[in-house]
Amino acid sequence: MADKIAKRSNLVNNIITNQDVAPSTQRMRGLLRSCTQNYKHIFSSIARDKIVFSLPAIMRDMGNGFETYEYYKKFVQELMVQGFRQFQLSNLGAMGLFKGADVKWYADYPLYCLNPLSASKLRQSGFCRYTLSPEDDNENMQMLFSANADLIIYQDTPLFTSETCVWANMKRTCPGMKQCSFKQVTVENEFGDKFMAMNDRCKTVVISDKPFSLIHYIPKLLDAGQRDFRIDLCWRDYTPDMIKGIFSGIQNRTAIKYSTMGNYERGLK
Ligand SMILES: [Zn+2]
Repeated sequence: MADKIAKRSNLVNNIITNQDVAPSTQRMRGLLRSCTQNYKHIFSSIARDKIVFSLPAIMRDMGNGFETYEYYKKFVQELMVQGFRQFQLSNLGAMGLFKGADVKWYADYPLYCLNPLSASKLRQSGFCRYTLSPEDDNENMQMLFSANADLIIYQDTPLFTSETCVWANMKRTCPGMKQCSFKQVTVENEFGDKFMAMNDRCKTVVISDKPFSLIHYIPKLLDAGQRDFRIDLCWRDYTPDMIKGIFSGIQNRTAIKYSTMGNYERGLK
C-alpha cells in the first residue's frame, strides 16, 4: 500500500508499469504494471494534463530523521518537476506533502463524502473534486450528484488492510519483503462469501471476490444528473479480455456477472 501510485482520468483509473515512471520512482510498485510504452512517450504534455496521480490511503513515515514523510515528499516533488499538477488524495495528511505548490487536488472516496456538508468542506479545504462513497446508497447518493462529484461505477474496494503478511500468519513465517513469494490467497467466511487476500509488500489487502459494479445503472445515474464516472482497476490483475468485458458492459448497459452493488439498493444502514 505504501508504495503505490495510480494514474487516473475522469473515466478510468488505469494501470501503468514501474518502467513507465522515472527511474527514481521505480520503488513505487503495486499499481504500476501493464503499460508497454515508455514514460517519455506517455508523459506528453497532453498526458500531463490528463493524468492524476493517486496517493495511498495509508502512508507510513519511513524515515528516522527530523523531517517526516520524506519518501512521499520526494516522490511528489519529482512528479511536479516533470510537470504533473494533479493529485488524488485519500487522507488529509497528504495535503502537507505539497508545501503550497500550485496543484489540483481530488478527494478520493476514503475522504468520506456522505452528505452535502462534507462535500462543501472538502471543496473549502482545497479539493477541486470529491468522490462519492462506494458504501453509499442510491437515495443518499443522489443528493450529492454534482458537476464536482466523481461516482465510482466499478471497483474492487479494499475491505481492509493488514500490516502483516498472510504467510506470516498462515505459515508462521515470512522470509521478509525481498524474498516473500506470497501473491494472493482466496479465503471464505462462514456464510460462503469469498475474499481475496493480496500481498502488498508483506502487508495484506483484502478485496471481495465480487467486484463492486453499478454499470447497469448508468442510464438511471445519467437521468439523475450525474455526469462523471470512474472505473477503478487498481487491485485485481485484469487481463485485456476482462477489461474489454467491463467496457462492453458500459456500452451495452449490461450488468457485470458475479458482481455486487454494495449498499446501493439495500440501503445504508
Ligand atoms: Zn511476506
